[in-house]
Amino acid sequence: THFGFETVPETEKAKRVYKVFENVAQKYDIMNDAMSLGIHRLWKDMLLHVMHPQPGVRLLDVAGGTGDIAFRFMEYVRSQQERQQRRAARSMQTPSWEDISTNYTNEDVEESKESRAVVCDINKEMLKVGKEKADSMGISAGLSWVVGDAEELPFDDDQFDIYTIAFGIRNVTHIDQALQEALRVLKPGGRFMCLEFSKVTNPVLARLYDAYSFQMIPVLGEVIAGDWKSYQYLVESIRKFPDQEEFKGMIEDAGFYCVQYYNLTGGVVALHSGFKL
Ligand code: SAM
Repeated sequence: THFGFETVPETEKAKRVYKVFENVAQKYDIMNDAMSLGIHRLWKDMLLHVMHPQPGVRLLDVAGGTGDIAFRFMEYVRSQQERQQRRAARSMQTPSWEDISTNYTNEDVEESKESRAVVCDINKEMLKVGKEKADSMGISAGLSWVVGDAEELPFDDDQFDIYTIAFGIRNVTHIDQALQEALRVLKPGGRFMCLEFSKVTNPVLARLYDAYSFQMIPVLGEVIAGDWKSYQYLVESIRKFPDQEEFKGMIEDAGFYCVQYYNLTGGVVALHSGFKL
């Protein structure tokens, strides 16, 4: 059952990645909770916390799959907007606010502050599950779903304020190419943010984590999704991905500035960030 990628030509990797996510799409959300013991939710929340997006911001979530990041983004922005509206309502009661705001109506402010999120993924099955989820939860407004390859994004230059890629970049065949594309579609001043499995820094935790991932994850994949191989691929792809410092260097090489990272859960996951200037 070995699913080694070392011997597989690069285009084959892309085909296999496609098959993996096509196979798991329907079970993807359940598997995420089961395998990470629910912790992936905290990692994603942490991404939003660091991003701290304000109303009006445009997000591109690449390898966005079933929409977790985009949903959190819209929810975060909505709560920020409510806060600002409450604040504005309070300040409207004071005469000085009216003096300086005679040319603007509340509608103008709301119009210009509408946030949008585009979820882009190479796999239409993953997007389909996400879109159905958004429709059934009644949170489709402001979201679009676009099939596209991280290495060749179907968007014009300088379009987005934030580019995110969560647990997606290790699946991409040419990471440098995906980083170039991220830089291209971001507006000047825009931010690149990436969540990805990384290198566990604590040796005790590292041993536990290795044992867990190599022995438990394919078993869970078999039991829950009936798919041992896809989850064995997952563990192997995590293994091969560059560590925190190396990936930071790659982001800098692509042309991003102020690149930094945060280790989450002792380095099980790293959150990398950089800016386009
Ligand atoms: N971001 C979502 C999340 O955090 O739950 C989904 C992550 S899932 C592990 C990885 C996703 O990357 C899959 O949906 C897969 O289809 C997508 N993917 C793989 N290669 C890609 C590529 N070259 N371009 C765009 N998406 C890709």
